Amino acid sequence: MFKKLDILDEKDPHLRKKSVDAKLPLSKEYKNTIENIIKELTYSQIEEYATKYDLRPGMGLAFPQLGINERIIVIVHEYEDGKFNNYVVVNPKITSYSDEMIAAEAGEGCLSVNRDVEGHIKRYARVTVEGFDPDGNKIKYRAREELSIAFQHEIDHLEGILFYDRIDKNKPFYTEDEIRLI
Ligand code: ZN
Repeated sequence: MFKKLDILDEKDPHLRKKSVDAKLPLSKEYKNTIENIIKELTYSQIEEYATKYDLRPGMGLAFPQLGINERIIVIVHEYEDGKFNNYVVVNPKITSYSDEMIAAEAGEGCLSVNRDVEGHIKRYARVTVEGFDPDGNKIKYRAREELSIAFQHEIDHLEGILFYDRIDKNKPFYTEDEIRLI
């Protein structure tokens, strides 16, 4: 049986709080939660399941979106048609980033924001993210392009930042000359 996660809406105060470091290793309960998140994010990106379970496509989720203000993020990245890589990072930190900036041409979406918000968000084209796996082992990922955007989006959640906070109100859209749109 597949039970959908209770993902909080943007109006919930948990989404605006700064999260604290999670204690390692993670509890069995948190590990189960992570498995459920991976399952739901994966299903949401496979049309057949997305339709069957009425899931909005999403590639990432941060624990605050479930009402737990601890620093844990999960990303399920479709790197090739129908092939997914999972990234679970506890207490993540961006330890280096590119000078080059990019923006998702279609804008960003969020499973906690149930409306379309238009605008480009400047993100680093490449980031290195360091942190821990659920057992407390050190891990390090290098991410580029949309995966890099996903990491920055999810880590923002740990600071209580939502993607549209970063849209420049005076200039919500960039041209290709100003920033590389992906
Ligand atoms: Zn989000």
